[in-house]
Amino acid sequence: MTLTAEESHTHFEVIIVGGGMVGATLAALLGQAGVSVALLDARAEPLDADAVGRGQPAMRVSALTPVSQRLLKGLDVWPWMQARRVTPYRHMQVWDSEGSGEVVFTAEQAGVPELGHIVENDVILAALEARLTELLTVAVRFGARVSGLASTGEGHDVVLENGQRFSAPLVVAADGAQSPMRTLAGIEVDAHDTGHMAVVTTVCTQRPHGGVARQVFLPTGPLAFLPLTVAGDDRYCSIVWSTSPQEAARLVELSPEALGHALAAAFESRLGGVEVVDRAIAVPLSQRHAKTYGQPGLVLVGDAAHSIHPLAGQGVNLGLMDVAVLAEEVLTARARGMVIGHASVLAHYTRRRRGDNAAMLALMDGFRLLFGSRHPALTLARNLGLSGVNRLVPVKRLLMRQATGHRGRLPASCR
Ligand SMILES: Cc1cc2nc3c(=O)[nH]c(=O)nc-3n(C[C@H](O)[C@H](O)[C@H](O)COP(=O)(O)OP(=O)(O)OC[C@H]3O[C@@H](n4cnc5c(N)ncnc54)[C@H](O)[C@@H]3O)c2cc1C
Repeated sequence: MTLTAEESHTHFEVIIVGGGMVGATLAALLGQAGVSVALLDARAEPLDADAVGRGQPAMRVSALTPVSQRLLKGLDVWPWMQARRVTPYRHMQVWDSEGSGEVVFTAEQAGVPELGHIVENDVILAALEARLTELLTVAVRFGARVSGLASTGEGHDVVLENGQRFSAPLVVAADGAQSPMRTLAGIEVDAHDTGHMAVVTTVCTQRPHGGVARQVFLPTGPLAFLPLTVAGDDRYCSIVWSTSPQEAARLVELSPEALGHALAAAFESRLGGVEVVDRAIAVPLSQRHAKTYGQPGLVLVGDAAHSIHPLAGQGVNLGLMDVAVLAEEVLTARARGMVIGHASVLAHYTRRRRGDNAAMLALMDGFRLLFGSRHPALTLARNLGLSGVNRLVPVKRLLMRQATGHRGRLPASCR
């Protein structure tokens, strides 16, 4: 087979494997600064930009923090997303099904216009894909499944299933929680089973959500109703119900009516009756943290580096912070005339991201254990804790700063 001129240009400054939300954001950050980037994704084709964010909402959504929103605004993708569908939430309400403890966080208390936005993952990704088509130094390849990796001394060769090779001094693995690249590089993970699966679906409730993200901690795990506004109708919610694998398997087999009743009962009918308007799927949940964030010339980002329980909606936000920091370090090295895959890039990136990611993973574990217990002492402690937090405005402010992404030294693109 003869390769076209474009296909034979296989040397880049940076190769990103994985064009999910995190990899695509990194490609846009680097492409915007004029870095030559190949973004390789196994998916057969890009999303259909005309279809996303219209009609019935997609099942998979993310709660984006104001810090992530700032990053996406800087990439000029936020207006595209806003024109499709983003739902702001100004309040967060969290309570314990086994007692009286409840805490309410408000945007006013946090001094921000919104605590965050619920956005369909496809809306975020389609906006990034549209932006990438405008960046001349970014080559995006779909149907590009990576199956091999070889160190060349000056960087790495990345080999596709069809035998095509791409080389660069820096290769970034953004290929998700299972990360074939992480395996190819021989990087191990600390992993543990959360004991949970997430049942995900979309519902329409009897009463409007009022821009409030709600979560109840049940003995079996947290149940979140994340607000969605569809064509001005604010009675839609995206559901993330974390529970045991057995219970998840039972829930997804229920009829829509029976699942609606189960959701309304578990949610104490806080929004009245619940109508399930999409199919329900069960997604496995595991927490993993890569033992290292890379090796010379190779860096892990997003879920390839860490996957986290979704109870605080932090997964993609952590990944976006990873790539904002990595882009900053790459551009600094490049401006100083250093090799882009220089060991200091990985060292600085690791130093700036590992602690934040590890702290968030530990916090999620703590929450899950505390709220997953029926022990009376723990029930009392968490109820006192929730009520206490609710009364202590400075503590609430601190928690809200954490939840809205204001942690540590933020990269310039997020300030
Ligand atoms: C139920 C649930 C709810 C969640 N809710 C939230 C939330 O509210 N807020 C939040 O911040 N996070 C949330 N998350 C987490 C969030 O979805 C993930 O952190 C995020 O999707 C990770 O993005 P990523 O780009 O790192 O990986 P992925 O989205 O997994 O993308 C990986 C990409 O790599 C590609 N790929 C894989 N293998 C190869 C290969 N060999 N060659 C080439 N390409 C390859 C894939 O095609 C894919 O496009 C939730 C997660 C779950 C499970």
